[in-house]
Amino acid sequence: MNIIELKNVGKSFDDVVVVEDFNLEVKKGEFVTFLGPSGCGKTTTLRMIAGFEIPTEGQITLKGEDISNLPPYERPINTVFQRYALFPHLNIYDNIAFGLKLKTNEVTYKKDNGKIITRKEKLSKKEIDKKVKRALEIVDLEGFEKRSVDTLSGGQQQRIAIARAIVNEPQILLLDEPLGALDLKMRKEMQIELKAMHERLGITFIYVTHDQEEALTMSDKIVVMSDGVIQQIGTPEEIYNEPKNAFVADFIGESNIFNGKVTDKLQVQFCDHTFTCVDDFHIGTKVEVVVRPEDIVMKPKGEGMMDVVVDSVVFKGVHYEITVLSGDNEIVIHSIYNAVVGDTISIDIDPDSIHLIENN
Ligand code: ADP
Ligand code: MG
Repeated sequence: MNIIELKNVGKSFDDVVVVEDFNLEVKKGEFVTFLGPSGCGKTTTLRMIAGFEIPTEGQITLKGEDISNLPPYERPINTVFQRYALFPHLNIYDNIAFGLKLKTNEVTYKKDNGKIITRKEKLSKKEIDKKVKRALEIVDLEGFEKRSVDTLSGGQQQRIAIARAIVNEPQILLLDEPLGALDLKMRKEMQIELKAMHERLGITFIYVTHDQEEALTMSDKIVVMSDGVIQQIGTPEEIYNEPKNAFVADFIGESNIFNGKVTDKLQVQFCDHTFTCVDDFHIGTKVEVVVRPEDIVMKPKGEGMMDVVVDSVVFKGVHYEITVLSGDNEIVIHSIYNAVVGDTISIDIDPDSIHLIENN
């Protein structure tokens, strides 16, 4: 079942279009990520789902009901922002309980005369205690109730912000670059924790990041955006292995992108050489050829498909980044093996690793 749908959603500020014709279906319990460079409209789209912005075009539905004009507090949706924005003067318990203390439940009574009445009641202290304790368990910070905000690390504060967002059991949690303020090591740890938390809670997550690795690691579905327009929607594998256009290929992971031409059935020419490929296009079609640096294999001179000259070698920790030249064409290779600048070597590319995108 789709929990949220965006249909032809658009947003303009003073005639400047920042989100255009945005169509998306999100299933209940899914982990969906909006991925794209800064300024492409990720936050604006998230704010429309949260209700902080009203779309200028299209419709947002929650379980089939139009919520486009509903204020944020009437939507079963919570947001975690990049800056955790905890209340510094409140302890952890009060930070998490803040929203719960304002919350009311509809309670139904049967009076002596048989009449049924409903009225709104605040949550009891006991109920609030229980929910706060459970939220702290979920973010793995049991026993932190009495601590003050300034005694917590950045990562712990962000976990409290998440505890606060999940304590009233929203159906959807929106997270806008929630790990952006953390250092690399903490960010990696929190990625794993957030993913585990998503699986434990069963809540639908819509996550925003400009970090492609983060998106690939965490998501069930990625929405790649550029200039307010969706470029591709797919699983991490689809986005990585079958990018729909050069923008996606370039933005997701590193890619060699060459101009090429289909010269025969399953034959493509690029870098002054003809390769066998698996994408079937009409002969004569002009294409962009995408090859991942890790899919190029180095061989001794004369033993591969084409000879190239090693132009530079940079050690990157897990691999060497080796740039080779074939005439004027630069080709980047990632390899666990080293190479010597100035040497002539040979390279092989498996047909499966040559991805063609038709040039429009
Ligand atoms: P992202 O989150 O992908 O970095 P945003 O959604 O924040 O992008 O912004 C997309 C574009 O919309 C940017 O060009 C930004 O300047 C513009 N924008 C965002 N909010 C407003 C606003 N309230 N008024 C005018 N322009 C805005
Ligand atoms: Mg943003």
